[in-house]
Amino acid sequence: MRRSHPLILGGGPAGSATAITLGRNGTQPLIIERQRLIGNALCGGFLSWRTLQQLDRLGINTEELGGHAIDHVRVFAGKLMASAQLPAAAIGLSRHRLDTIMLDHALAAGATLEIATVRNVEGASVVTDCGNIESDDIFLATGKYDVRGEARPKSGGNDPTLGLRVRIAPNSGLTALIGSSIELHMFDRGYAGLLLQEDGSANLCMAVRKSRLAEAGGKPGALLTELAAANPALADRLAWWGAGPEPDAIASVPYGWRALDTRSGLFRIGDQAAVIPSLAGEGMGIAIASGIAAAKAWNMGGGAAAPQYQRSFAARTKRPVAVARFLWERGEQPWSAGFAVRTLQFAPSLANLFAQATRIGDQ
Ligand SMILES: Cc1cc2nc3c(=O)[nH]c(=O)nc-3n(C[C@H](O)[C@H](O)[C@H](O)COP(=O)(O)OP(=O)(O)OC[C@H]3O[C@@H](n4cnc5c(N)ncnc54)[C@H](O)[C@@H]3O)c2cc1C
Repeated sequence: MRRSHPLILGGGPAGSATAITLGRNGTQPLIIERQRLIGNALCGGFLSWRTLQQLDRLGINTEELGGHAIDHVRVFAGKLMASAQLPAAAIGLSRHRLDTIMLDHALAAGATLEIATVRNVEGASVVTDCGNIESDDIFLATGKYDVRGEARPKSGGNDPTLGLRVRIAPNSGLTALIGSSIELHMFDRGYAGLLLQEDGSANLCMAVRKSRLAEAGGKPGALLTELAAANPALADRLAWWGAGPEPDAIASVPYGWRALDTRSGLFRIGDQAAVIPSLAGEGMGIAIASGIAAAKAWNMGGGAAAPQYQRSFAARTKRPVAVARFLWERGEQPWSAGFAVRTLQFAPSLANLFAQATRIGDQ
């Protein structure tokens, strides 16, 4: 059996942030990533000002990311709309671009990348489809996907939340509609986030309860048609979608879950550490912050530092995750979503308050 020290499972933002931070301290980890096509993760592509600061800390020049500038949030509920300025500049960026750049930095810092799928983690043993690896220092960064042996508990009861994504090719009509906004279209048991990315394409990412999708016959395309019929602004935007392929989907997103503790030698990072409801647009900021914090903890105390890191990171994510969960639970109910949009029309500064409260703080 091979030995690796340390070993990073997953090459998304959390895994790469860990590798870059370890590399800067002279350690060369092995990253196991299952996808050859880097950065296909289902994600809204909103990089908040905090996420941009975290990237800056990693030595990634955020000017060169080339993202689409975003300075406003627009919230829709039925025929209602409220608009507010964001507290600071954000960008829309495809995951392909972000993950490729981050992984390139990780490799430049000395990490090695191996394309393989992790099947199972048992103590210090990691089973992959390309053989077994032994490591006393494992960083679990498989994001939205659980690994046998270290899976997160199921959440959402009988009505879990699913993720869906539609990509819309660049076109001037949609560019004029969305402009420099991140749009949140609230509907019964879900929301759709919409923004423009670096190449002018639009990314429409949704979180929706399983029961709502079931009402549309379990077909994402049919759900979008129903939502367009009930939400005029969403209909205007979806008109540019055309008959594309069926949306991408992921099952059961455990919104609100946080790892409160771990065992020695296992650092849980990214979505394997905390899952903030995605309408906050801070999942990637949390992923990068956790990678930096875990790598620093390992530099100081090795694998034995994992439990202390996990408890401290759980405390750091408590407020943003709780506030985002509060907003998500109100937003997925039509009456409270409508009330929230009306309130924002009169007091747009509230959006600023919530935007700040859902960001990951400094250590
Ligand atoms: C609907 C939706 C919209 C979202 N929108 C936003 C947004 O706009 N802004 C934002 O900041 N956050 C958003 N998020 C959250 C964000 O996508 C995640 O928080 C972030 O991707 C977490 O990063 P990560 O590195 O932990 O995991 P991931 O990005 O999921 O990366 C995990 C990596 O591990 C690899 N992997 C998985 N399983 C295995 C395995 N068994 N073996 C080997 N490799 C494996 C994957 O291929 C992937 O490359 C959204 C989430 C959802 C569900």
